[in-house]
Amino acid sequence: MRTLIILFGPPGSGKGLLGDKLVEQGQMLKVATGDILRNAVKQQTPLGIKIARSVKSGILVDDDIVNPIVKKALDEASGNIILDGYPRRLSQLITLKGWCQQAFEPLCVYMTTPINDILSRISQRRICELCGTTHFAAAGCCPKCGGRSVVREDDALITQRLNDYLKTVDPLIDIIDQWCRIIPVNGMDITNGVQNVLACLESF
Ligand SMILES: [Zn+2]
Repeated sequence: MRTLIILFGPPGSGKGLLGDKLVEQGQMLKVATGDILRNAVKQQTPLGIKIARSVKSGILVDDDIVNPIVKKALDEASGNIILDGYPRRLSQLITLKGWCQQAFEPLCVYMTTPINDILSRISQRRICELCGTTHFAAAGCCPKCGGRSVVREDDALITQRLNDYLKTVDPLIDIIDQWCRIIPVNGMDITNGVQNVLACLESF
């Protein structure tokens, strides 16, 4: 059976970076709902126009918008999948459990990155105005295309987003814990985290 890795944790905890490093190891596809939604806003697609305000302020987008995006990705992928940014609600978790039956073996990576480290990471995070690549402020401009570095609009609201996450999203981990194996990863040590996840995949 194929594996579905759920990257679970607060905004800015290093989920995206961990996911990218796992993809580099091969045979995995990363589906980052935040990137897909932000891209739709940037391209001003009908969907993007509808969700622009929510995405820019870091508010959770409705299930009827985000569920089909995830379902389509699961249907189209032929190998293992990494989910970044989903599920974020109990209703999404229940939906995902249904989709996984007989198709995917779930595994959850739970980010344990300390809040203080998250705040300092976010203050250094920039996004390329042209291509959307995430990078450090120290780079000066986009390392991929040379585009201008800007602060992600939802990063400017990080304190509020962390509070929202701790109140409404984080409690889901107790239910995930009853469903599948959980690997704790500190986002300040991604190298070690990648090794732990790969070791766990091999033992599946
Ligand atoms: Zn760029």
